Amino acid sequence: MAQQDTEHEQAQDEGVLPVDDEGFVIDTEDAGEREEARCARGTARPITVVGNPVLHKECRDVTVFDEELDRLIDDMFASQRAAEGVGLAANQIGVDLKVFVYDCGDDEGVRHVGAVCNPVLRELPADQRRLDDSNEGCLSVPTAYAETPRTDYAEVTGQDARGNPVRIRGNGYFARCLQHETDHLYGYLYIDRLSKRDRKDALRQMAEGTARYATVPNA
Ligand SMILES: [Zn+2]
Repeated sequence: MAQQDTEHEQAQDEGVLPVDDEGFVIDTEDAGEREEARCARGTARPITVVGNPVLHKECRDVTVFDEELDRLIDDMFASQRAAEGVGLAANQIGVDLKVFVYDCGDDEGVRHVGAVCNPVLRELPADQRRLDDSNEGCLSVPTAYAETPRTDYAEVTGQDARGNPVRIRGNGYFARCLQHETDHLYGYLYIDRLSKRDRKDALRQMAEGTARYATVPNA
């Protein structure tokens, strides 16, 4: 009888990522293959937009880590790809649950792919808080962009698709993505962080543009 192939079994579970020496997930390995597998199983759903109540309240915690959650994550990856996004929160496809997915490059151009449930952003000490003012956009505010201050480094703790505790960290654009997606699950859009004037301008850009992907009309 052959020895059990445990290494192979572990590699097959896409819900669980390896961790580095400091306990952070390694979400850069096989990024393309993992994203592809999720998209192949998932179905793209239309994106909710600003004004839809599901985007403006805190989502429910994920408490059941089952196949249904996995199917939701598959659909989220498919929706993210269809809308050409780099991150997507569950309430952006109308699901009131604390989970987000990402497929995002960092400052070195390295691609990060993953999913996190019940994310909490780590409060950085003052000497580690460097603000970056780059442009930010959101699939739920189609065609609008605005300079939005975010820290250039971020850490998120949460759980993976199996309920195991995970820690994710990122810099640059990926750090911005981690902050943006966590905000979504607590009912905040990036335009809520802007001055009144900049928010109004973003909403005007949205009103003047046309989304290049399917959206859920507001009632
Ligand atoms: Zn967004």
